[in-house]
Amino acid sequence: MMGHCYCGDCRKASGFIPFMGFSRDAVKFSGRILQHRSKAASGGDAVRNSCAVCGGLVFGGEVDISDSFTIYAGSLDDPSAFVPRIAIFTRDRPAWAVVPPGLTLFEAMPNSSG
Ligand SMILES: [Zn+2]
Repeated sequence: MMGHCYCGDCRKASGFIPFMGFSRDAVKFSGRILQHRSKAASGGDAVRNSCAVCGGLVFGGEVDISDSFTIYAGSLDDPSAFVPRIAIFTRDRPAWAVVPPGLTLFEAMPNSSG
């Protein structure tokens, strides 16, 4: 699942966030991170992880705990690997955060995985 998140949390972190979703089996983490935890719109905790060297946002989720992770596409070494398909939390999108054409829009979190 690849797309743009326009939720209020992502807006405060980075305007909006281009993300790629992965199950925990599909990712491996190394290196030092700075972890930031906050209350998510869903009521649970949102954990964002930044590179301890450059401060750039790298991924969401809690290493060794979360079942899935979101890699922030802006952190990719090869940005062309990111091909957004969906836009989520469009109800929270500010007018200046323009949605690229062709994305499937969801007002909030999509209900089904896919
Ligand atoms: Zn978000």
